[in-house]
Amino acid sequence: MSNHALENAARALKNARCAMAFTGAGISVESGIPPFRGPGGVWSKHDPEKFEKGYFKRHPDEVWPLLKEIFFDMIGRAQPNPAHFALAELEYRGKLAGIVTQNIDSLHQAAGSTVVHEYHGSTRRMQCMKCRMFFDSHSIPLDKLPASCPACGGLLKPDFVFFGEGVSSEVHRAATDLAKQSDLCLIIGTGGQVMPAGRIPYIVKKHGGTLIEINLHDTDYSYTTSDYFLQGKAGTMLPKLTQLTLE
Ligand code: NAD
Ligand code: ZN
Repeated sequence: MSNHALENAARALKNARCAMAFTGAGISVESGIPPFRGPGGVWSKHDPEKFEKGYFKRHPDEVWPLLKEIFFDMIGRAQPNPAHFALAELEYRGKLAGIVTQNIDSLHQAAGSTVVHEYHGSTRRMQCMKCRMFFDSHSIPLDKLPASCPACGGLLKPDFVFFGEGVSSEVHRAATDLAKQSDLCLIIGTGGQVMPAGRIPYIVKKHGGTLIEINLHDTDYSYTTSDYFLQGKAGTMLPKLTQLTLE
């Protein structure tokens, strides 16, 4: 990739009236959380069917230990990396209106970003399948599984979207509204294959906005719509872009 592309992208970001970011699993890889697809990913070890809502409700004894290992132990240990911090700095300096993330790891907030729409929910909360109450995940002991509701004893489910479950209409509306207002979208570490999340950047484009993409590899966005494709690691490229934009 030429320095030219980076400089041009920084100029576009500098001139943007309202910029947003759309992030995926790739932004958290350098924090030690592997993507789910591909070799070594979660789906190469565990059948995705186990994370389907109906299966979970029928087999909570089998699924909860997997949820604990993948989503609470591994994600619980992760820290934000330079890419998360760069987005937080862009927001702080008034150059980023908000983030729509597909990730459930809350690392954007840990880095200091405040406007974060968690399109697929997060591991921070759990909901009782019986009385529908929400609980802070930190208040729920995971030494005895399946996790159960402190109020009624019902089955607790982490508050992120399982297969066979819809996205919350509030977060969808907030994410779509942000995209409609934005004249630039940074697409970082996502192949955009998961729908309807993957459509968010196209909304920005449809309204005449500019797309800057950062990824290790080409994606459908790079082939079709990205105006600038910055090939490389998010933890390297995003701090460089941020520095050039803010200087
Ligand atoms: P994906 O696994 O389909 O794609 C990851 C993308 O990141 C790929 O395009 C890959 O080329 C790119 N990538 C990998 N390492 C990178 C790096 N260091 N820098 C820049 N790019 C890099 O992920 P997705 O599109 O986000 O979709 C998967 C779904 O799984 C999402 O819904 C997401 O919520 C979920 N997920 C979440 C987490 C998390 O919370 N951290 C982790 C894995 C998957
Ligand atoms: Zn309950």
